[in-house]
Amino acid sequence: MQKQDEVFGLIGQEEKRQSEGLELIPSENYVSEEVLKAMGSVLTNKYSEGYPGKRYYGGNENVDKIENLAIERAKKLFNADHANVQPHSGANANEAVYFAWCKPGDTILAMSLPAGGHLTHGSPVTRSAKIYSFVGYGVTESGDIDYDELERLAREKKPRIILVGYSAFMKLPDFDRVAKVAKEVSAETGEEILLMADMAHVAGLIAGGIHPNPLEHGFHVMTSTTHKTLRGPRGGIIVSKGKVGNPLKKCEHKLENVPTLIDRAVFPGTQGGPLEHVIAAKAVAFGEDLQPEFKTYAANIVKNAQVLADELKKTGFKLQGDGTENHLILADVKSSFRIDGKFYEAALDKVGLTLNANSLPTDKGAAFRPSGVRLGTPAMTTRGLGEEEMRILAGWMKQVAEICQKAGDEPGLEKYTDELAAIREGVRDLARQFPVPAIRPKDQ
Ligand SMILES: *Cc1c(COP(=O)(O)O)cnc(C)c1O
Repeated sequence: MQKQDEVFGLIGQEEKRQSEGLELIPSENYVSEEVLKAMGSVLTNKYSEGYPGKRYYGGNENVDKIENLAIERAKKLFNADHANVQPHSGANANEAVYFAWCKPGDTILAMSLPAGGHLTHGSPVTRSAKIYSFVGYGVTESGDIDYDELERLAREKKPRIILVGYSAFMKLPDFDRVAKVAKEVSAETGEEILLMADMAHVAGLIAGGIHPNPLEHGFHVMTSTTHKTLRGPRGGIIVSKGKVGNPLKKCEHKLENVPTLIDRAVFPGTQGGPLEHVIAAKAVAFGEDLQPEFKTYAANIVKNAQVLADELKKTGFKLQGDGTENHLILADVKSSFRIDGKFYEAALDKVGLTLNANSLPTDKGAAFRPSGVRLGTPAMTTRGLGEEEMRILAGWMKQVAEICQKAGDEPGLEKYTDELAAIREGVRDLARQFPVPAIRPKDQ
């Protein structure tokens, strides 16, 4: 028998890890067998620089049809005039939009990182932050966007882009209010302002019809990842409103031309050949997202998150925003249990519950030891866990938090090995009852 590459043994280990643990990271999910199949196809052999019907290589007759399917489905999902399905990731999608609309030095107004914004919205360590001038707005004590601050900064700094988007925020944004601010500032300066929404986390909730769609509230562009709540392969998309033109031809720098400016900014502006195997998997995922069952899935994500939030509060967790309106929960473990997020994250890892430590808006400076943890329900909801399981989960989270409190630090957990092992067994049992899609049962 031919020896198999050791990589496949490790993939097997990863299948086991995913099957036996519960995924609480709000940006993760599980794809279907069909999505996985499209991603692992021979489409990876093909060069397709350009766009359907306008390629720089021959032999794209099948690829063109596949990319067009992905585009048409994405447009339908988000009620958009145009979709670019080529961005390799959410970060690439954001950079392409900045590049499409801004000149170096232009100002972009976005939620600040400590408030819940994403790295790609102006963190000094990114390339974008070295090119453009980012200004950050924050959140209020109740956890909502500080719209007054946003408005004040928009009037004062006159940004070229106002960006609503986040990775750690649990309210429904008021897009109309932001659009009104942009309109007023624009009337004053005579310069068009691009309204951009980065819905990487909640795009699946929008597609499922239970979250406002920024494109239906005056926004021009929405970027997203495809692998979070949309349940597709790792990647990005950009959907927009406006006139669809020829991406190979230059066009005027106007809001109505945003779709064409974006196409040109993705390729050749910031990327080379598209990953057509991933685009095929996006098309399959978008096809799934258009089914009525996906609406139920999206509604269940939010229902589970709200049940989990209520249960966590009952057991003594203090939550940012006092709960959630989407899929995401930010728990303040410092003020609830006098432990830090990193320590708690490590202890939960030991019992097979995966989440991540996260700063709270109230954490000061660069938080090496953030006070909170971020968790969410998209992955668990895909596996079929429901309200009853959310209660069990909250119980385990409370038990582990109390163990951490007694242990004091990570070496101190040694004394609680048996207690942690008992919880680990419970998590494994529950996880086995809810198989991961696309992992064969015999492997679970
Ligand atoms: C996850 C995320 C991204 C980045 O996506 P990648 O695919 O990891 O590059 C961008 N913006 C927001 C708001 C995100 O949550």
